[in-house]
Amino acid sequence: MTAQTLTPSETAGGLCPPPEWTAAPLTASTQELRDLITDFVQREAIPLEEEIDRTHKLPPSLWQKLASDPYRLIGAVIPKEYGGRGATYVECCVIMEELGYSSFSLATCVETTTIVPTYLMQSASEELLKEFLPAIASYETYIGIAITDMNGGTDPAAMSTCFSCGDGEYRLQGKKRLVSLADNCNAFIVMAREESTGARGALTAFLIDADTPGLRLAEEEFCFGMRGHTTWIVELDDCVVPASRRLGDEGRAMQYLFRTLDRTRGSYATGALGVARRALDVATEFAMRTETFGKRLIENQSIHFPLIEIRARLEAARLLAHKSSAAADAGQPNRVDTSLAKVLAGAIAIDAASLAITVLGGRGTTSDSVAQRLLRDSHTLQFGQGSPNAQFIGLAHDFYGVRP
Ligand SMILES: Cc1cc2nc3c(=O)[nH]c(=O)nc-3n(C[C@H](O)[C@H](O)[C@H](O)COP(=O)(O)OP(=O)(O)OC[C@H]3O[C@@H](n4cnc5c(N)ncnc54)[C@H](O)[C@@H]3O)c2cc1C
Repeated sequence: MTAQTLTPSETAGGLCPPPEWTAAPLTASTQELRDLITDFVQREAIPLEEEIDRTHKLPPSLWQKLASDPYRLIGAVIPKEYGGRGATYVECCVIMEELGYSSFSLATCVETTTIVPTYLMQSASEELLKEFLPAIASYETYIGIAITDMNGGTDPAAMSTCFSCGDGEYRLQGKKRLVSLADNCNAFIVMAREESTGARGALTAFLIDADTPGLRLAEEEFCFGMRGHTTWIVELDDCVVPASRRLGDEGRAMQYLFRTLDRTRGSYATGALGVARRALDVATEFAMRTETFGKRLIENQSIHFPLIEIRARLEAARLLAHKSSAAADAGQPNRVDTSLAKVLAGAIAIDAASLAITVLGGRGTTSDSVAQRLLRDSHTLQFGQGSPNAQFIGLAHDFYGVRP
């Protein structure tokens, strides 16, 4: 049977569709926001980026600036009525690209405050929203996400962290790993499966205070990239959580998560493009001012052709990421585009950072070189919001109806 004889439902979306979307320019207010952040990055972030990488944390003064006027980038997506900036997801793309240009760790610290409110807005009671959203926006509260368990993150349904329910409360037992910024968190969104449902039970999410008895930061895990933020193993040992802290319905945590990531993956992708853009700039500046054999490096095709090729990919990936986020803002389905954008942007970040090392030569590999940090970060950032293979697994299901 040829492809032409299959109906659209039989091909499960696997044939490449004709175009149905064209690019729109950024609105004046989004351009204003971009300029504000570009200026912030140049004046406040770039001078600190090496220190952030070396000390594994953002200086408290930087957190405060991020949360304060005129930036208000912490929880930017939180609606104005809950004390946030009310940023659109397209604006989150702009924010992440500019922050990623300096430091993907910095971008991640901010992105968590996009994912968490988005998740809460899918799942939490109005009471919890009123309690937590204003506190996130003002940076009184920082909430982390603890999904990945010791069994791995790609197949969350197989997680071993589990809960039992009793009289108006839940008891959680398990171990989470790679929890970003756990040492900075007042609370965590934790996912667990019901004890009696066996290995592949549906998951439930809870909002758990960091000082809850039984919750403990067991060990710091050191990643080779994105070193400007910490990652931790978090242990839950008979941790009691009141029913009022269950997020949404039992068994629906993954549905809320997928809906959340459909909204936030576009901005994560543009954060990766910020890394790529910086790498291209680092390589370009070096190639423009460095001479070998009596001429500038940039004059060699083997140097400028790949710079141009990656720039073309970057521009195309940005369009796709913005398209997916514009769809999120409009409440339209966008899962395929967010996944494609994330895979594409991650690969471009790695390629751009690798190229920067090639262009800078040995000087790109020394510990004071921005290029080596970008290369470390570009590899590490692949795993946030689902690994590239996790995207391919989802896309293969969308396109061809196949499951892992
Ligand atoms: C810097 C950093 C910060 C993080 N922060 C957080 C956080 O705050 N909260 C949190 O919960 N998690 C966090 N994570 C964890 C992240 O979500 C996971 O790394 C990610 O989900 C992948 O899971 P894993 O690393 O356990 O890989 P695994 O699930 O063990 O998989 C290993 C590799 O195999 C691939 N793979 C798995 N199954 C298949 C298949 N069927 N076919 C093909 N390939 C497959 C995966 O894509 C991956 O590349 C963070 C990770 C990093 C690196």
